[in-house]
Amino acid sequence: MFCPKCGRQMVHRDGHQYCEQGEMYLSQYVSGSLERAFFGGLRTSSSDDRNSTRISTKRPWFCPFDSSKLEGDEAPLVCPECHGILTGNMRCHLIERHPHRPDEF
Ligand SMILES: [Zn+2]
Ligand SMILES: [Zn+2]
Repeated sequence: MFCPKCGRQMVHRDGHQYCEQGEMYLSQYVSGSLERAFFGGLRTSSSDDRNSTRISTKRPWFCPFDSSKLEGDEAPLVCPECHGILTGNMRCHLIERHPHRPDEF
């Protein structure tokens, strides 16, 4: 799996996906959701987005499956290659619970 924040290959550490560049562990919940959204061919329905906050970041996000840059300014973000979807909920979790060095976004 590639890091959704920097696009680098993640490693397994202590049973979690870990980005060495950003010193960021992915929680089981987030890595499981990313796998369902990007690896399984099962596309998350938009209803998953109903409680999400609209956060517009100008930062690029990357596909955990093929490290392509995701398209879109606001959630959900879509991968142009595999058509996986990063929902607003997922992005909130990643921003709030998963600080990524150097700037912790
Ligand atoms: Zn990273
Ligand atoms: Zn993709």
